[in-house]
Amino acid sequence: MDISVVIPLYNEEESLPELCAWIKRVMDEHQFSYEIIMVDDGSKDKSWQVIQSLKAENEHVTGVRFRRNYGKSAALNVGFAAAQGDVVITMDADLQDSPDEIPELYDRIKNQGADLVSGWKKKRYDPLTKTIPTKLFNSVTRSMSGIDNLHDFNCGLKAYKKDVVKSIEVYGEMHRYIPVLAKWAGFSNIQEQVVQHFPRKYGTTKFGPGRFVKGFLDLMSIFFVGKFAKRPMHFFGPLGVISFLIGIFITIYLIIEKLMSIANGTAYRNVTDQPLFYLSLVAILIGSQLFLTGFIAELVSRNGTDRNKYHIDQVI
Ligand code: UDP
Ligand code: MG
Repeated sequence: MDISVVIPLYNEEESLPELCAWIKRVMDEHQFSYEIIMVDDGSKDKSWQVIQSLKAENEHVTGVRFRRNYGKSAALNVGFAAAQGDVVITMDADLQDSPDEIPELYDRIKNQGADLVSGWKKKRYDPLTKTIPTKLFNSVTRSMSGIDNLHDFNCGLKAYKKDVVKSIEVYGEMHRYIPVLAKWAGFSNIQEQVVQHFPRKYGTTKFGPGRFVKGFLDLMSIFFVGKFAKRPMHFFGPLGVISFLIGIFITIYLIIEKLMSIANGTAYRNVTDQPLFYLSLVAILIGSQLFLTGFIAELVSRNGTDRNKYHIDQVI
């Protein structure tokens, strides 16, 4: 099979028939063999009934329905597991992405050696309150991940080589960082394609303003996990040592100062009357806490089932 189109959806009943017909038209025009995997993320409207009737009309449609709403990442993960096509395309269900982009995306993966092609909504039809934080978010992600050729990490329209989707695990709300996950998994040919973007036709956005806070927290998690998951002590250890040493040096300074005062017969303050004493106390305590956290994290990661999971490219 050439192409699997994975569509995560939550309460998108109005858009689905139009989207499905459009994808079918593009696929038939280019004679692709394909499947459309619709993952209903616990919709409360009639989305599932719509999917059932679409499946009755078109044998290429398959549907998966969650019992409750788990989020876009979960829906993508399940869609990725089910996908059988050589090229996997994800797109939002709300008709903001155009299926007309599929042939070029397919060509880039199939014939031009790309592992992942991410859409870039160069001209966006979203409110300013969304586009400005998104710019900031993208530039931070770019510099932290080293993927400097992407302008738009969170575009719903993306294409993947099959290997990529079978090697990565999208969980929590990590769908915003799939290119980063792909890079960690060793897929380096990550490209970008300018795509058309439309205003939302039906319904409303499914993510509130909290998306930005969550997005940045996830960004920190993903870099911590990507870099230190297999060696957490390398993160906590140095911080602990630095903090501990600061505390020890201050303590030594306080002791020497007091001894000198005694030796010289000059007036001195009690060690506990000096602000520095409390600073040293805090620094030593935090230092040892960080160290212990490092040990515990090492024990946790030793028990992780994927502690020895590596992505092997080839064996001869
Ligand atoms: N979506 C989903 N589960 C959720 C939230 C969203 O499957 O919990 C789907 C949604 O139906 C749409 C896509 O994810 O197909 C993108 O969502 P939306 O268009 O609301 O996001 P925006 O365009 O505002 O970034
Ligand atoms: Mg949308």
